[in-house]
Amino acid sequence: MKVFVVNCGSSSIKYQLFDMADESVLAKGLLERLGTSSALLRHSGNGKGREPVECERAVQAADHTAGLKLILDVLVDPRSGVLESIDQIDGVGHRVVHGGEGVTRSSRIDGELLKVIEANCDLAPLHNPANLAGIRAAMGAVPRAVHAAVFDTAFLATLPPHAYRYAVPNAWYAQHHVRRYGFHGTSHRYVTLTAAGLLGKPADQVHLITVHLGNGCSMTAVAGGKAVDHSMGMTPLEGLVMGTRSGDIDPAIVFQMHAAGLAVQEIDRVLNKESGLLGLSELSNDMRDLLRAVEVGDRKAALAVDVFVYRIAKYIGAYYTILPGLDAVVLTGGIGENSPPIRHRICRWLTPLGAVADEARNNQVVGGRAGPITAERSALAVWVVPTNEELMIARDTAAIVFGRGT
Ligand code: ADP
Repeated sequence: MKVFVVNCGSSSIKYQLFDMADESVLAKGLLERLGTSSALLRHSGNGKGREPVECERAVQAADHTAGLKLILDVLVDPRSGVLESIDQIDGVGHRVVHGGEGVTRSSRIDGELLKVIEANCDLAPLHNPANLAGIRAAMGAVPRAVHAAVFDTAFLATLPPHAYRYAVPNAWYAQHHVRRYGFHGTSHRYVTLTAAGLLGKPADQVHLITVHLGNGCSMTAVAGGKAVDHSMGMTPLEGLVMGTRSGDIDPAIVFQMHAAGLAVQEIDRVLNKESGLLGLSELSNDMRDLLRAVEVGDRKAALAVDVFVYRIAKYIGAYYTILPGLDAVVLTGGIGENSPPIRHRICRWLTPLGAVADEARNNQVVGGRAGPITAERSALAVWVVPTNEELMIARDTAAIVFGRGT
């Protein structure tokens, strides 16, 4: 079975084509700057029995429909493609950011589900409209396939009211849907299932704290395989310190900065795009740059890293308290998977919970490997488990094609 995974942003289409027989990736790529004169397609193909191809080329693609057509043409190209025909695609899995309160699982896309995605455009104005455009384009271009939507929010739909409600007037919730939804759910679900397997526990019995540290950062408390709390909120701005997002702040800071002369849109932009690691370091949103700067004595970079790690430790402490037990803290995302120094610092903060770091293990578990980074004798296990949201989407889509639930 072939499954095509599509992740549409407002000006980009990210894709992977899987052969689900062995979960291998036959092709993947990114079409960027859609709708501009400088649209660019980066594609790599690795079809069985064919020469691997890598290409990068300027293209003309006015919108998602044109962009998808272009990508599909590349997939079936007689010389460099990996498919004989588009009809070989059995399922198309679409990443959808916001499913709102009602969506708890991945589902086959029909008229009803399209309405749900549309109804949640207000809650994710930058993402859901682009996701919808991609779905409509793909349903037109690959009409014989089953189309499935996999929602970022779905894994987090099990949060209990005491975790998802804010202490604001009830009317804000009833009339304006003000509550915690959370994001990165597909990543947290993937690492939860993978970690359960690695720890030898049934998925519905594992207790974890999963920590996704990429450009965006979030943490989920998982009890019995279900999400019971999560650090991102009504929007992805809440919670951990991120590349350019502030994470938690006193909401009154918004009023103070407004009184100081900043328009609301400006404050929104600063908190989302100029804060976090970038705001504190005044250097970069990339952890690699900051770690290099710390080595040569950059104090602002050092503070940015300190605040980043401290916030993570504080959340782990809070989630430790609310879980019925803890099998492991699981680190993932670009920083979690690749940065021994940051992982070491997180482990040091967790000493009161019984974590004993193991330097050799920590240095070995990089480059897509999974494994523990704490010592055998450590009372608290800290693991690294690489995430793979595309594969999670492909697996859900395959299950839906087969008519099984997810
Ligand atoms: P996204 O959230 O965009 O999917 P990733 O999960 O790929 O991002 O994470 C990107 C971040 O991972 C980069 O901004 C960088 O800070 C960090 N990163 C990647 N490799 C390393 C490394 N070797 N050391 C420290 N940080 C790294």
